[in-house]
Amino acid sequence: MTPLAEIIAARIRATGPISIADYMQICLLDSRHGYYATRDPFGAAGDFTTAPEIHQMFGELCGLALAQAWMDQGRPSSFTLAEPGPGRGTLMADILRALRVAPGMRDAAEVALIEASPHLRQAQRRLLGPVRHLDSIEEIDNKPLFLIGNEFIDALPVRQFQMTQDGWRERFVGLADGVLRIGLGGTVDLPRKGEPGDVVEDCPEGAAVAEAVARRIAKHGGAGILIDYGGWNGYGDTLQALRNHAPENPLAHPGEADLTAHVDFAPLAAAALRAGAQVSRLVHQGDWLRALGAEARASKLAAAGDGGAMAALHRLTDPGEMGHLFKAIAIWPKGAPAVPGFTALEAYADDA
Ligand code: SAH
Repeated sequence: MTPLAEIIAARIRATGPISIADYMQICLLDSRHGYYATRDPFGAAGDFTTAPEIHQMFGELCGLALAQAWMDQGRPSSFTLAEPGPGRGTLMADILRALRVAPGMRDAAEVALIEASPHLRQAQRRLLGPVRHLDSIEEIDNKPLFLIGNEFIDALPVRQFQMTQDGWRERFVGLADGVLRIGLGGTVDLPRKGEPGDVVEDCPEGAAVAEAVARRIAKHGGAGILIDYGGWNGYGDTLQALRNHAPENPLAHPGEADLTAHVDFAPLAAAALRAGAQVSRLVHQGDWLRALGAEARASKLAAAGDGGAMAALHRLTDPGEMGHLFKAIAIWPKGAPAVPGFTALEAYADDA
């Protein structure tokens, strides 16, 4: 058992089974043994590689999209440039470099990083210099907001519900013979259809993030881009654990494996619309990056001697690599031009 498994087991013995969401929260963010709290999980030596860690072109293209949106909205002279879940800070570093295409933008930006892990906060400061760290999206100032988040929502805790003969029941982590096991709680009312055995997920913190971002953008202007793996009206048990680049049972090594769930973008879009902002259709990461000029950028870098540029382009955009699994959605003020590479979702529809 990992140290965190002992702690979770003791808590379950004392106060009963915990929800999948509580389990995820403890595993990822426990201040002593949590996965993000204790390590740098990125890259070849870690458990997974994210798009910004693959190649600088990812962050540069994201930066260009934000720069265009800033110019399209009249170049606000003071705004927040925010990133939730910045990891090593690589994406923000690449974005800041790319912003130089828009004279005055860098000076108008106040960078704010929303990061829960003290360990990663340090890594971000090492790369970016002194930056402002926030504990929550709600702490972002009331001014125009340009925000980008990559693989952030997938780290937020999900609750899971399973259909049984007598209705939906929440899934909990309990103990069987001293070992962590999934079990079911009492029946709950859920406005969703399902067959016995079906599992659905709910990520309340994800919807709250979309709502908070959209509320600021609707009121003060700006643009928000969220990139992650997942789909629209997602379905099923998508909780997954990754340790040393290999999948494993999410209950096997609490605190030592990355735990994520696929992002269901539909409730995020619904929350952003409720907050009064315009929201985009969901696009594949590959299509979005190509629309932003990824091919030309990669060819130029390759011609200048960057030997990894074309392979990185393939990894980031090919449908068989990250191109299809990863999706992006954008938020902007109603009436403003669309964020580059996105088209407006005209009305909220379940099959968008
Ligand atoms: N965006 C980065 C890292 C993704 S990993 C990249 O693409 O490489 C997820 C990041 O979100 C980590 O920095 C993790 O510490 C942070 N994180 C996870 N849960 C969080 C929470 N509830 N609040 C703030 N940050 C969180």
